[in-house]
Amino acid sequence: MRIFHSDEHRGHAGAKEMRYDELIPMCESPDRIDTILAALREQGHRDVMQASRFDLAPVLRVHTPGFVDFLQRCWPLWEAEFGPRGFATAYMFGMRGMDQVPNGSVHSMLSCYTFDVCVPFVAGTWAAIRSAVDVTLSAAQHVADGADAAFALCRPPGHHASADLAGGYCYVNNAAVAAQKLLDGGASRIAILDVDYHHGNGTQSIFYDRDDVLYASLHATPEREYPFLLGYARETGKGRGEGFNFNQPLPLGTRIDAYRPALATALARVRAHAPDVLVVSLGVDSYIRDPVGGFALESDDFPTIGADIAALGLPTLFVMEGGYAIAELGVNTANVITGFAQARG
Ligand SMILES: [Zn+2]
Repeated sequence: MRIFHSDEHRGHAGAKEMRYDELIPMCESPDRIDTILAALREQGHRDVMQASRFDLAPVLRVHTPGFVDFLQRCWPLWEAEFGPRGFATAYMFGMRGMDQVPNGSVHSMLSCYTFDVCVPFVAGTWAAIRSAVDVTLSAAQHVADGADAAFALCRPPGHHASADLAGGYCYVNNAAVAAQKLLDGGASRIAILDVDYHHGNGTQSIFYDRDDVLYASLHATPEREYPFLLGYARETGKGRGEGFNFNQPLPLGTRIDAYRPALATALARVRAHAPDVLVVSLGVDSYIRDPVGGFALESDDFPTIGADIAALGLPTLFVMEGGYAIAELGVNTANVITGFAQARG
């Protein structure tokens, strides 16, 4: 399987995040990509390529122009006010009863276009966001050109980002941009299978009223876990999209014996959708020792997940999402890819 990446993510680093009552270094860090690449090579995956450059038109098919403008201008505006130190983050959020139209100040933009305190901006953030799109679109193009599968090893991740909101380490929804690009390139139907530990609230919201993109997700129950306000089983889509959003919230502590049947149920929904391409939002924060996760999957469980996905026999685009247990992140991610590749022969 060809693996796409870019070195331009490295500048998105050095900020801090709120973890409930603590201010801690960002778990979503550049060494995530390094450790995954090393493990992939260790497991024999040598077809590794730098991404090609794409223009922003595919991003604007999914995200609003005002939001994309904000992503580009946030740091320069912040730096003009505070100087080249620290990181830009919202101080308050546009909530019920408040004006939710930015007034031109960076603070109003952050209030209107972010939904939590886990999407900081530094000098290199926009370049990293853009490189993640390039990585994902390069991999999508490879699949569109006839490859059986490709892996977009991108950061920052994307599945929490909606059309006009960033949050949860996510700015542009890479998987959604790829899905739309594949549709615009001639595909009739796409399925997005989200196996990240967290619900992909952004992906769900982008395609919620559409029947051409199935969104199927396994994730920690929002009764106990981020993003708390979305990800319930009762969210099944609306209008034409009714029946094309499939959430399976699972309890904290879920092990492979309960995870695998839930995955089989999601895969059956994917098969019934008969997509031209399967996009996998690949998060491995379902690992037992992940500092951000709360499931109990072991490293040896991840090849099984890859093999189960491979059994669908669909052209498959893997897009990197979460996974923060740095010591095991590389092996866990590579295990999914290897399990998939071996099952496909
Ligand atoms: Zn996650």
